[in-house]
Amino acid sequence: MRRVVCPGSFDPVTNGHIDIIGRTARQYDEVVAAVLTNVHKKGLFTVEEKVAMLRECTADLDNVRVAQFNGLLVDFCRENGISAIIRSLRSVSDFDYELQIAQMNYRLSGVETLFMTANPQYSFLSSSLVREIAQYGGDVSSLVTPNVEQRLRDKYA
Ligand code: ADP
Repeated sequence: MRRVVCPGSFDPVTNGHIDIIGRTARQYDEVVAAVLTNVHKKGLFTVEEKVAMLRECTADLDNVRVAQFNGLLVDFCRENGISAIIRSLRSVSDFDYELQIAQMNYRLSGVETLFMTANPQYSFLSSSLVREIAQYGGDVSSLVTPNVEQRLRDKYA
């Protein structure tokens, strides 16, 4: 059983995230999409809302489970029998940061980090840009799923 994790803030989940989770689900037996609970970083959405949105967006993927975690990702991996962390690279600017975290996580626990290149269709896309566009009433319908679009509308109403 090869179980991996796609960790992130998912504030909110975008079509870029869904692309990565879906592609990962085709490569591994089980994928845990794990929402980081960061007490120092207050997101737009609560963890419960982020988890709910992710569940809605991945409902058609049988081998994807949604969870939340706080503390160290390597501890979450150990506790859940997860052998690898999947992260995505959108551009070279992602690389420096991701390399450092990946090497630190390996040093801490021996857990591997595997990188997947972003779909070029979504490489410009980030949750922060989606929030900014939605805040000013812009059209995000091609960037997120309809349920997420509705929740953004409710938030900024
Ligand atoms: P974090 O704060 O941990 O970077 P994010 O929710 O921003 O959390 O991202 C979670 C993961 O999803 C990361 O590996 C990130 O590179 C990836 N990701 C984010 N946006 C996209 C996108 N548009 N296309 C592909 N992968 C993405």
